[in-house]
Amino acid sequence: MAKREIITLPDPILRKVSEPVERIDDELGTLMDDMLETMYEAPGIGLAAIQVAVPKRLLVLDVTDHEKEEPRPICMVNPEIVARGDELCAYEEGCLSIPDVRVEIERPSTVTVRYMDREGEQREVEAQGLLATAVQHELDHLDGKLIIDYMSRLKRDIIIRKFKKSARS
Ligand SMILES: [Zn+2]
Repeated sequence: MAKREIITLPDPILRKVSEPVERIDDELGTLMDDMLETMYEAPGIGLAAIQVAVPKRLLVLDVTDHEKEEPRPICMVNPEIVARGDELCAYEEGCLSIPDVRVEIERPSTVTVRYMDREGEQREVEAQGLLATAVQHELDHLDGKLIIDYMSRLKRDIIIRKFKKSARS
């Protein structure tokens, strides 16, 4: 396994729409292992392939409390939300690609996700709570969407400017 570099704002790669995965092979398995290692080391609870510059519809998650529980990694290939609950819940979300920025975002508190696991098995889960938030956050990445898109335009522009400036220096 190898840690990969996490792409950060304002890298335009983050705005790319990721392509569906066509087959699960050794290369993809290595990518999933690398993504998990990168996520655990960051540390984070979710990572999309585009965040390590691979524009494929693939994400990894683990919302367990790393200090108290055994890790429970989840790999989702070609995930899609097939149902959303009516109730909304707000979370302050952070993003490994936008360090030190937190945005309160309201999203459905339950979602049903259909995906392929790393063995190529078709699965469906009803995600709730933190997992529901994390899945929706990572799915946004696959469509080039970021947490700053939920802010007002003014606030978003300030953050983008700040990141552009520090990327230059
Ligand atoms: Zn993110």
